[in-house]
Amino acid sequence: MDIEGFRRAGYAAVDQICDYYASLQGNEHPVAAQVEPGFLSKLIPSEAPQHGEDWSVIEQDYQTKIMPGITHWQAPNFMAYYPCNATFEGGLADLHAAMISNPGFNWTCSPSVTELEIITLDWVAKVLGLSDDFLSTSPSGLGGGIILGSASEVCVTMAIGARERALRALAEEHPPPQTDSTNSAAAGPSNAAKAIAASATVLANSALSKWRGNLASRLVMYGTTQTHSIAAKAAIILGLDFRALEVTKEDGFALRGATLRAALLEDQSVGRVPFMLVASLGTTSSGAVDNLQEITEVAKDFPSLWVHVDAAYAGVALALPELREQCYSDALRHVDSFSTNLHKWGLVQFDCSPLFLRDRGVLSSALTVTPEYLRTRQGDAGSVLDMRNMQIPLGRRFRSLKIWFVLRSYGVQGFQEHIRRGIKCADVFAGLMGEDERFEMVAPPNFALRVFRLTSAGAAGGEDVDALNRRFWDMLQTRNSELLLTQTVLPDVGFCIRLVPGSTLCREEHMHAAWKVVKECADKTLGVQ
Ligand code: PLP
Repeated sequence: MDIEGFRRAGYAAVDQICDYYASLQGNEHPVAAQVEPGFLSKLIPSEAPQHGEDWSVIEQDYQTKIMPGITHWQAPNFMAYYPCNATFEGGLADLHAAMISNPGFNWTCSPSVTELEIITLDWVAKVLGLSDDFLSTSPSGLGGGIILGSASEVCVTMAIGARERALRALAEEHPPPQTDSTNSAAAGPSNAAKAIAASATVLANSALSKWRGNLASRLVMYGTTQTHSIAAKAAIILGLDFRALEVTKEDGFALRGATLRAALLEDQSVGRVPFMLVASLGTTSSGAVDNLQEITEVAKDFPSLWVHVDAAYAGVALALPELREQCYSDALRHVDSFSTNLHKWGLVQFDCSPLFLRDRGVLSSALTVTPEYLRTRQGDAGSVLDMRNMQIPLGRRFRSLKIWFVLRSYGVQGFQEHIRRGIKCADVFAGLMGEDERFEMVAPPNFALRVFRLTSAGAAGGEDVDALNRRFWDMLQTRNSELLLTQTVLPDVGFCIRLVPGSTLCREEHMHAAWKVVKECADKTLGVQ
């Protein structure tokens, strides 16, 4: 394709995208893809073509073969999982970023990529009312952040930083062995930090790597039974232990300080070292917010514990001053790191997961490896931030451009209106459901998430409530072209159903339509004619 070909194809693609959005507004698509597994292999050859094909054919195939297998996450009646917002501004930014395709790992790769990221992260931190400690201009000079691709990537990256920090502290108490393979500069307690850094790259089975392995085997990461699986997965990836603490319905499925303290003390008493807590600000199942006030109080007594807040979904709600208390924004001042997914409810296209730290050096001291070919004059002089040193991959996407476009075009007030509208939509649904006593809300109304189920009063002939609700869920699935929801299981409750409005297209009328589907499915499940 040449420049003029791209011009024509690009205009046509924009036309199609505009038509697509108009059709989403008109509810013209089944929200869930109505295809069977393996449908695409029947439509697409098993080998790439030997000779290039005409764009018009490729484009048509996209519409006729790919689009039918797309679930419409931007549709107003998509209320499953969590939203994955798209905006025209974000889309245009991604188009520009794709066409300058620029892996800005060092400042010199494209100074604007690094510098816009630093600036927009500060913008986001201020929109969310985060502490100045998380800004690039923090009083300590250590604060700042990085935009990664997912909350999962954030969690594992943060865990690497927290692990190295904990190992360095442990190494002070348990100095490295003095062996031939031990670098003399690394030997001895005063050089414990250097020994830990050296031990990360020595051959397995050397005395130094065994010493490191022994120290690492004592580290424990914490979350709750409601923490997203990203934490357990990060622990698996790093070969560390993860301990899921219990939460109760009575506490709104949130972690309390006393539970945390008891677990930390118990582990410490057998020589284990608490090194990281993944606290949730908005769990996936119920939107629960761990009690950050109590958690940060407890953390003061456990200096080895890095407190990371996963606010993947609900972090953007901090943009609303009226919700900050619910999010323990005062206590947020004392956590070590915080991340949210702007690509969920934050109007920015997938993927965009800002991570804010009070001491970003924790990442760079764990992840900086600089062979000659990556050195630059500015990097050597320390006058720039080379963001490769704060992440796992080398190259990185130009994600800040979409934050910049979106925040400028919406303004803070437009951003706030979007969040408020989502919560209002959820309230409208809850109000309608509240008038029907066959239903119960099983979790506090957190953000725009409502979790409900049919009550035992609706169950006929002593049917188990979980079984009843699983039948109800099966019935809802038969209507997934009109409304898409997700199921979950909550402690002290059991099987239940989640509804989360958040699409930029969702309005109150869609909540009435959603309630109609839910009510009709309940009628059918309960045998009401
Ligand atoms: N944390 C929470 C609370 C989530 O709800 C999710 C996804 O829904 C994640 C983490 C995982 O996000 P990601 O796909 O960005 O890794």
